[in-house]
Amino acid sequence: GATMAKSKFEYVRDFEADDTCLAHCWVVVRLDGRNFHRFAEKHNFAKPNDSRALHLMTKCAQTVMEELEDIVIAYGQSDEYSFVFKRKTNWFKRRASKFMTHVASQFASSYVFYWRDYFEDQPLLYPPGFDGRVVVYPSNQTLKDYLSWRQADCHINNLYNTVFWALIQQSGLTPVQAQGRLQGTLAADKNEILFSEFNINYNNEPLMYRKGTVLIWQKVNEVMTKEIKLPTEMEGRKMAVTRTRTKPVPLHCDIIGDAFWKEHPDILD
Ligand code: ATP
Ligand code: ATP
Ligand code: MG
Ligand code: MG
Ligand code: MG
Ligand code: MG
Repeated sequence: GATMAKSKFEYVRDFEADDTCLAHCWVVVRLDGRNFHRFAEKHNFAKPNDSRALHLMTKCAQTVMEELEDIVIAYGQSDEYSFVFKRKTNWFKRRASKFMTHVASQFASSYVFYWRDYFEDQPLLYPPGFDGRVVVYPSNQTLKDYLSWRQADCHINNLYNTVFWALIQQSGLTPVQAQGRLQGTLAADKNEILFSEFNINYNNEPLMYRKGTVLIWQKVNEVMTKEIKLPTEMEGRKMAVTRTRTKPVPLHCDIIGDAFWKEHPDILD
C-alpha cells in the first residue's frame, strides 16, 4: 500500500515482464485439459462423447463467466474452452498472465468442486489440470474466424470419432483396424460409412456433439420463493417471486455462418 515503507528489495519488481494485451483488441483465453486422453480412460468416459463430461465443462465455464469480469462469449468442445474478454476491458490492466491464470485456476477448481454433481458414481481419482494460452485478435473478423476454427475442429474430430467408435463398438474392429479403414477418407466417405453400415444419419447426432457449446449472456426469468413480511401479520408469508437475471446460457448452434452474429449483434458491440 501507499503508506507502507518500501524496502531495499523493492527493485526486484522491475524484473516482472510487461504482458499488457494490446488496447482495443479481443483477448481470448483458451484452456485445454492436460492429458485428457488418459483422464477420459481412467474415469470411464463414454466414447466418443461423454455427455456428463461435456456438461461439467460447461458448468465450469459458466462459473468462470460469473466469477470473473468482462467475458462476453465462451465456446467449448471436448476438453477445451475458449473465453473472449470484451474489447475494451480494463480488468487487471489487461495483463495476460492475470487473465490466463484466473481463468485456468477458477475453471480447474470448479471442475473438482462440481465433479460429483455430474459423475455421481464415478469417483474422481486424481486432480486434473488445464493449460492456458492468451491470444489477442485485432478485429471482429479475426475473432469470428478464431471461433469458426474451433467449431470446425469440433466438427472434423466428431465426425471422425463417430465413425471410428462405430467401427470398434458395432463392427468389432480393433482401434488399429478402424484407423486403417478411415485413412485417406473424406467427410463424404465418412458420412456414407455411417449411413450404409450403421444406419446413422450424422446430421441427426446430438447438436452438442456436432457443434460444441456456446455460452452467451441472456436474460432468464427465475422463480424463487421469498418471505414477505407484512406489518399486520406476525408470521412471514412465502410467495413466488419472478425476477429477471442475466446468466451465461448454453447454445449448441452454428457460429460459423453470419446468422448467429446477426441475431446477437450486441456481443461484438
Ligand atoms: P494434451 O495434454 O496435449 O491436451 P490430451 O490427451 O488432453 O493431451 P487432446 O488433444 O486435448 O489431448 O484431446 C482430448 C482427449 O480427451 C480426446 O481425444 C478424448 O480422448 C478425451 N475426451 C475429452 N472430452 C471427452 C468427452 N466428453 N468424451 C469422451 N472423451 C473425451
Ligand atoms: P487479490 O485478489 O488482489 O490478491 P487478496 O484479498 O487476496 O486480493 P492479498 O494481498 O493477496 O489480497 O492478501 C491476502 C489476504 O488473505 C491477507 O491480507 C489476509 O487477509 C488473508 N490471508 C491469506 N492467508 C491467510 C492466513 N493464512 N491466515 C489469515 N489470513 C490470511
Ligand atoms: Mg492438445
Ligand atoms: Mg487436452
Ligand atoms: Mg483438447
Ligand atoms: Mg491474493
